[in-house]
Amino acid sequence: MTYQDPDLGLVTVTVNPRARSIIMRPEVDGLRVTAFRGASLAFVKSTIERFRPSLIKKQAALKDRPLLTLEDVEKMRREAKVVLPRRVAELAHLYGFSYAGVTIRNAKTRWGSCTSRNTISLSLYLMQVPEHLQDYVILHELCHTVHHDHSPRFWALMDKVTDGKAHALRAELRRYRTA
Ligand SMILES: [Zn+2]
Repeated sequence: MTYQDPDLGLVTVTVNPRARSIIMRPEVDGLRVTAFRGASLAFVKSTIERFRPSLIKKQAALKDRPLLTLEDVEKMRREAKVVLPRRVAELAHLYGFSYAGVTIRNAKTRWGSCTSRNTISLSLYLMQVPEHLQDYVILHELCHTVHHDHSPRFWALMDKVTDGKAHALRAELRRYRTA
């Protein structure tokens, strides 16, 4: 049977008559549980509960991403507020873009955005991606100050400022998640 766990994702429970205990194997987006015959779901769940913190940690390690504490996020926010606006200014100067300002947000669903008034928002989680991908996101938002859409004109401009690598960089960024 399977069920959804808010922290661990999809939990898949299978019964193995030869199992003598509850065996839990964390995966990137779920948990595989092997139970002995006759183990009730309540017992399986109480076992998961007992090991929940270490299961979450193991899962985070599998994602190749350290589990972030609130302190980590605050530290990252402080760094992001220094590093990212400076890089926006550098790239804008280099390629001749102008913008109204930069805000750093705890954005978990998108790396960046650009308002109609050309204020650029960047996710503080950009601090976790390589610099050339930070630049890609920043250039993406700077190009939106010229074209507020994803039209062919927008991508042509993106290619101009990324040496024709806009789509390759976008694909590379997809390998990273925000929070
Ligand atoms: Zn965009």
